[in-house]
Amino acid sequence: QPAMSPSHHAWDGNGAAVVAPTPMPKRLEGKVAIVTGGARGIGEAIVRLFVKHGARVVIADIDSAAGEALASALGPQVSFVRCDVSVEDDVRRAVEWAASRHGGRLDVYCNNAGVLGRQTRAAKSILSFDAGEFDRVLRVNALGAALGMKHAALAMAPRRAGSIVSVASVAGVLGGLGPHAYTASKHAIVGLTKNAACELGAHGIRVNCVSPFGVATPMLINAWRQGHDGAGDDDDDLDIAVPSDEEVDKMEEVVRGFATLKGTTLRPRDIAEAVLFLASDESRYISGHNLVVDGGVTTSRNLIG
Ligand code: NAD
Repeated sequence: QPAMSPSHHAWDGNGAAVVAPTPMPKRLEGKVAIVTGGARGIGEAIVRLFVKHGARVVIADIDSAAGEALASALGPQVSFVRCDVSVEDDVRRAVEWAASRHGGRLDVYCNNAGVLGRQTRAAKSILSFDAGEFDRVLRVNALGAALGMKHAALAMAPRRAGSIVSVASVAGVLGGLGPHAYTASKHAIVGLTKNAACELGAHGIRVNCVSPFGVATPMLINAWRQGHDGAGDDDDDLDIAVPSDEEVDKMEEVVRGFATLKGTTLRPRDIAEAVLFLASDESRYISGHNLVVDGGVTTSRNLIG
């Protein structure tokens, strides 16, 4: 009988090796993270994955009902704080609250909250867009990310360590993929990430972003509803009807049609995995980077016109 050597191998009765499941290393063990917009969609997937990897997580969202329900479903290591990321006092309070709850510690700040803005033809044209709506989208997506970087960095600097990860978009890399305000706001996040990384590296803080292509979340499905039958909600922050399974399937099929990578479907969990990598120490020498998660869409000519 051969010796039981590598710890993840066992031997069956006939002397053949069988692979026992290797325990998954927890990549955020002991860390404290804030996830904005963590109540649903991509943010919810990030929260769930962070918790699985041992983090204590604070969900910061404007949707108190969904945020509190998710926090209580996930257990005592998760809590909720109401926070509108476009309001500086809210962001400051969320960071202070997380640190006070967890011994003054903040390791990871994920700027995930975002809005797409109205999807009507008039709202999407540079010839007829509404300035107030443009301002609203920029305030949530771009100012919200900048305020998150500011207050997270202030909390992280004393320990000379931390990782800030923002969720940008392929619309922050290419034109023609979203309304003007959304595209401008996502390009802003990519730019802010580079600028803040330059400044915060001296304090041991890394700043990166992740740019997804289409993921079948309430945001994208609502946009698709508006684009196709005009039935979508006017306001994309809180009042989006929960998508049906059929809508999710249909949306995923549409997205699959654009990817160069075939045979797989982009899911919220895929974005969360990329965020986890940039949040964890595995990426300890990466800063100022935009990690595109798009099944090859932005490298192909096969784009939405
Ligand atoms: P979603 O609309 O399903 O969820 C967004 C969450 O953010 C919600 O919980 C909402 O309550 C919260 N939120 C909205 N405004 C807020 C504010 N002012 N302050 C705090 N919380 C706020 O959207 P999603 O698809 O999960 O998008 C998450 C992020 O991913 C966004 O930044 C979005 O731009 C980006 N993104 C999404 C896609 C996609 O296809 N779904 C693609 C690229 C990028």
